[in-house]
Amino acid sequence: MRIPKSHPRYESLMAREALVEGVKEGIVVRQGLIAHGRGEAFDYLVGEVSIEPAVEAEYAAAGRLLRAKHPVISVNGNVAALSAKETVEVAKAVGATIEVNIFHRTEERVQRIEGRLKSAGAEVVLGLDPDAGIEGLDHPRGLCAKAGIYSADVVLVPLEDGDRAKALKDMGKVVLTIDLNPLSRTSRVSDVTIVDNITRCMPKLARFATELRDDDERVDRILSEFDNRKNLSDVLNHIARRLGELESDSLD
Ligand code: ATP
Ligand code: MG
Repeated sequence: MRIPKSHPRYESLMAREALVEGVKEGIVVRQGLIAHGRGEAFDYLVGEVSIEPAVEAEYAAAGRLLRAKHPVISVNGNVAALSAKETVEVAKAVGATIEVNIFHRTEERVQRIEGRLKSAGAEVVLGLDPDAGIEGLDHPRGLCAKAGIYSADVVLVPLEDGDRAKALKDMGKVVLTIDLNPLSRTSRVSDVTIVDNITRCMPKLARFATELRDDDERVDRILSEFDNRKNLSDVLNHIARRLGELESDSLD
């Protein structure tokens, strides 16, 4: 389907097309479409822009990734379909390992996601031969790579399930997530929750990482000032304020 650029919902329609294509290519599972729909609903509430608290969280996440000894970015089907190229750029900007880690695991799907990441420029992609497990998760949901997620100190898990995010926290890792739902369990349990669409977030993360790379003092300041609970409450306040404004507009 060709979507004219002038369409007011161009970005959103393009994302849907990319996901439907992803299903056809065996990258995205149908459940992924439902998860995306939940994300879209929250994107409406925030106003489909990167709000101020999201940008703050993006700087904090970039700082955490730069400071990590062994950062890993976990990629699932939706992430690969929506942001493969940008994810590879973030990994390169912070020196992170990329691991395919999916909830509905089949070898074939892992291979296809790996293929997508490699054509987007990734040199090494872990996940195909898992040799470790995320503690507290059943097999195959907990499968991961020893050289990847298992030994990571900081993990970026965009669009992640709450149980898995919590299991990673319980293993003592610093968990960073991208999740448009500020109320999800993933959002609540993570150390840095970026309430932004992944399509807007990944390019910013790459840019901010490059910007912060040689500015130790600024990274120190960002990390000492960032408070995830406060950030999530700023997001909720933003949504509440916006709904209030919309409600009074509609009464005019
Ligand atoms: P949880 O398990 O954390 O309570 P959940 O069960 O609602 O959350 P999952 O399907 O496990 O959700 O995870 C997907 C999450 O990703 C959802 O919270 C959804 O809002 C979010 N999401 C989906 N698409 C996007 C997107 N394009 N950008 C950012 N977030 C998204
Ligand atoms: Mg879930």
